[in-house]
Amino acid sequence: MIDSHCHLADAAYADDLEAVVGRAHEAGVSGGLCVLACGDTEEAARGRRVAGLWPDLRFAVGVHPHQAHEFAGREADAVAAVKAALSTAPGASVIGEIGLDYHYDFSPRDVQRGIFRAQVRLARESGLPVVIHTREADDDTVDIVREEGCGKVGGVFHCFSGTEPLADQALSLGFLVSFSGMITFPGAASIRAIAARVPADRLLVETDCPYLAPVPVRGRRNEPAFVVRTAEVLAELRQMALGELDALVTANFARVFGPRPDAQG
Ligand SMILES: [Zn+2]
Repeated sequence: MIDSHCHLADAAYADDLEAVVGRAHEAGVSGGLCVLACGDTEEAARGRRVAGLWPDLRFAVGVHPHQAHEFAGREADAVAAVKAALSTAPGASVIGEIGLDYHYDFSPRDVQRGIFRAQVRLARESGLPVVIHTREADDDTVDIVREEGCGKVGGVFHCFSGTEPLADQALSLGFLVSFSGMITFPGAASIRAIAARVPADRLLVETDCPYLAPVPVRGRRNEPAFVVRTAEVLAELRQMALGELDALVTANFARVFGPRPDAQG
C-alpha cells in the first residue's frame, strides 16, 4: 500500500516517529510521498530523519499557496528556493504541494497565481511531476496547468474534495486524482461518487497526515498506517478486493512518482 501524501516531517511526529513508521510498515504501507514546505529548515532536518527511518519514501518540496505571500512579487526567488530545497532534501524529485487556495486566502490571489505558475513552469522545464493543492479555485488552477503545458510531466490533484467537472479536467490533463480519509466522512457523498468512477489507472490514496484521519479514528492525529482504512472504503465503493486496489495504487504511484531513469545514472 502507498500513502501518496503525508507530512511525516511535521513537528506532530517529532516524539514518536520511529513508532509511527513501524506501524506503517506493519500495516503494509511500503512507500509514499512525504511533502515538505520549501524553506522550513526545521522540517527539512526532521525530513532527513524520516528518510533515514523509511528509505523507500519519496519526498516533494514546494511553496504552498498559504506560504506564497512570503515570495510576493519574487517568483524567481521562489523558483530558486525550490531548486535549492530539491537539491538538499533526500531523494526529492517532485514539486509540491503547490496550487491555489481561495478558501483560506492566506496569500493574495494574484500572488498565489504567480507563485503557482512559476513552479508549474519549473516542473515542466525540469521534467518533474507535481502535487497540486486546489480549493475553490478550479478554473484558475486548470488554466495555469494547461497554459504552462504541465500535463506532460503530470502528477496528482491531491486530497480531492472538488467538483465533478474539476475531476474531469484533472483527468483530461493526464493527472492522477488522490483521495484522503475524507471519503470515509458521512457528509462526503459527492466525493465518494467521484472516487467510485475515476479510471483505475488514475487513482491514488493518501492520508494528508497529520490531518484528516479516517473514520473510525477521525479527529485523532492521522498517520500513514491509517491509509489502509481509506483504501478499504475506496475498494468497497469500487466493488473490488482490497488487494486489487492496493496493486492499482502501487502501480499508479510508481508510474508517476517512481524513480526516473535519469535520476539513477
Ligand atoms: Zn498536504
